[in-house]
Amino acid sequence: MTATATRVLVLNSGSSSVKYQLIDMNDGTRLAVGLVERIGEQTSRLAHTPLAAGGDKRETEGAIADHDAALKAVATELAADGLGLDSPQLAAIGHRVVHGGLKFTEPTVIDDAVLKEIERLVPVAPLHNPANLTGIRTAQAMRPDLPQVAVFDTAFHATMPEYAARYAIDVETADAHRIRRYGFHGTSHAYVSRKTAALLGKDPSEVNVIVLHLGNGASASAVAGGRCVDTSMGLTPLEGLVMGTRSGDIDPAVTFHLKRVAGMSTDEIDVLLNKKSGLIGLCGDNDMREIRRRIDEGDERARLAFDIYIHRLKKYIGAYSAVLGRVDAVAFTAGVGENAAPVREAAVAGLEEMGMAVDASLNAVRSDEPRLISPEYARVAVAVVPTDEELEIAQQTYALVNA
Ligand code: ADP
Repeated sequence: MTATATRVLVLNSGSSSVKYQLIDMNDGTRLAVGLVERIGEQTSRLAHTPLAAGGDKRETEGAIADHDAALKAVATELAADGLGLDSPQLAAIGHRVVHGGLKFTEPTVIDDAVLKEIERLVPVAPLHNPANLTGIRTAQAMRPDLPQVAVFDTAFHATMPEYAARYAIDVETADAHRIRRYGFHGTSHAYVSRKTAALLGKDPSEVNVIVLHLGNGASASAVAGGRCVDTSMGLTPLEGLVMGTRSGDIDPAVTFHLKRVAGMSTDEIDVLLNKKSGLIGLCGDNDMREIRRRIDEGDERARLAFDIYIHRLKKYIGAYSAVLGRVDAVAFTAGVGENAAPVREAAVAGLEEMGMAVDASLNAVRSDEPRLISPEYARVAVAVVPTDEELEIAQQTYALVNA
């Protein structure tokens, strides 16, 4: 890396998509952002916005066969604005990796041993880690000389005490198969809990925060003095809150029942709980905007789906209040948390005795900035804190390669 290398490319490789951002670490400026979708289909789409060049979004459609082709297409777009992957200003590539198991609790420079370990974790993250690996290998092939860093979704949760991380099942069986609660969205929970402390004018070590990351996937975490002490996702991202398409918490016996009585296969049950449950399973929609619209029109199924979603959220706020003992702030983040004022209002409604309340006019404000939405009298600060996982990945990557 040269002294002028201050840029980090962040890659988030999903099974059929690659999201990317090129960030200048001098001031966190986004130079380019984009997304390749539907990789492997005839109708792949690349949307690239060259922010540094002040350019408009450029969209191209047409078959992109695999991740290799996708990354090459991204490199071509970047090069068109003088931001190519061959640029000496590129310091590193930071990869989001979903599952880091017990081994990876810090951002890690990727070498062959690290790749092997990420591969070894595929059985516990079958949907995510293979895509992450493909993204890494493709990027390595394009810039073999450049440091590539893995930033793990599970890492922030590694501080969970054993009694929060272990399931109450036979210890030998659990250990033999690495079955425990790992938690996900860690990059977001880390970033948002820190930002929330800053919003309160405090050091993270001084505050206890409940972070509610409510996107299409959703998770809650209890963060005590900057360290995660509990989180709602478990071995996989299926546990916990009601999500866009995932059930969240469910009696495990439901799965035996579906197998023995309904005759479903393991794969069918997997799809049911991960893709056809949650909000979409309950009412046919997983977009909170659409659900609110239907509720406004008097749709009962949408209303019930919303109420189930809120009920679960409230249970986690209560549980994490008990886990933390003292709560200084509740922070809402991600697509739903940042935008859906009715969700924030309903989740905190009736919690005045716990020191939590939402001020209706503050809650109605739309902004990209971290902000408080609780009235002054409330003992607990309720906040909206936009997440920025890409910036967090870039910062962790840059800090590591400069260490
Ligand atoms: P993910 O990263 O998990 O795909 P996001 O954090 O981008 O998801 O959140 C996406 C979700 O946010 C959408 O499915 C939708 O439910 C919700 N959302 C986005 N914008 C709004 C809005 N203006 N009002 C209500 N909900 C919104």
